[in-house]
Amino acid sequence: MELLQRFKDPKLGQRILERLQQKISRPLNFMEVCGTHTVAISRSGIRELLKGKLRLKSGPGCPVCVTDTGDIDKMIGLARLPGVIVTTFGDMMRVPGSRSSLVQERANGDVRVVYSALDAVAIAEANPDKTVIFLGVGFETTVPAVALCLEEVVRKNLKNFLLYSAHKVVPPALETLLQDPEVKIDGFLLPGHVCTILGRKTFEFLSQKYNVPAVIGGFEPVDILAALDALVDMVAAGKAQVLNRYSRAVREEGNPLAQAIMQKYFDLVDVKWRGIGIIPRSGLKLKAEYARYDAEEQYLLEESTVEAVPGCSCGEILKGKMEPPECPLFAYICTPLKPVGPCMVSSEGACAAYYKYERRRSKN
Ligand code: SF4
Ligand code: SF4
Repeated sequence: MELLQRFKDPKLGQRILERLQQKISRPLNFMEVCGTHTVAISRSGIRELLKGKLRLKSGPGCPVCVTDTGDIDKMIGLARLPGVIVTTFGDMMRVPGSRSSLVQERANGDVRVVYSALDAVAIAEANPDKTVIFLGVGFETTVPAVALCLEEVVRKNLKNFLLYSAHKVVPPALETLLQDPEVKIDGFLLPGHVCTILGRKTFEFLSQKYNVPAVIGGFEPVDILAALDALVDMVAAGKAQVLNRYSRAVREEGNPLAQAIMQKYFDLVDVKWRGIGIIPRSGLKLKAEYARYDAEEQYLLEESTVEAVPGCSCGEILKGKMEPPECPLFAYICTPLKPVGPCMVSSEGACAAYYKYERRRSKN
């Protein structure tokens, strides 16, 4: 507890902030690759306090936001099937597909919000006459828990549980961004929770292959400022390394048990990310031997041809090419009550974070 308090200490945060303000000699572009970081940076005012010195871009760090419209349409297709109960996390409910959303589908079908995949397994056990489909979204942080549920499902030989896997892995997305000449990133603030699973070493390709510095950071204000401080120092020294400033949670090799259970159930496949396009080996699909639990294998789902919600700039935001207030719909047509795109729906979405914490500040 005492240790955690240090990372919330406003005096310590203030000292690092002042140091940062003095030592940044040219504006730098850093990207945070975690929705929780985006929210923490907005809420604490760090983005505003470093304005003009650091541009903190929110990258593809929210699993709901990066779920492609085509996936949402397929999920809606599943919700329309007779005899099916569709289950998913609350944030997915209001994400617009090309013609509808899961919350709208509730009027005709059985769509339920769950807090974990385990809840969906319990619903399957309680409803043997129905097929229960869990719509899985999430990165490496979420997937091991889903794999553990599958272990349960297989052990119990549950025949009415299916998974629609829209799960993704983070490292290939960073690689794709670095290969885009329009995306200018001087350093990454790496996602602490994902790194807990993958470990520091997994991200060494950023410095070794792309010469871009990166720091793994925790989620308290001091954690974030300390990570930014280390990034600024590396840029100033012309050094690129991957540093771990979240060593209370992240190890070199990550969590081998979590990695093993992911590998037991899932294969890496090429999948489409909203606004970014197809990223090779960045999606997680159930292995062929578990195809009987794979909703995509069990039903013929219609491919959607619609690219994105018209007028929404989520794609540009996820690539760090635009900030939420630059979207012409931001806070005018698109609000958390009437979201146009997922970045305004998800509690970890960049637009929702800016709307909640930075909209008034930027008006002053
Ligand atoms: S799952 Fe964890 S690491 Fe991933 S976006 Fe959410 S908080 Fe960040
Ligand atoms: S403000 Fe709304 S419409 Fe614009 S990018 Fe964000 S979610 Fe999309």
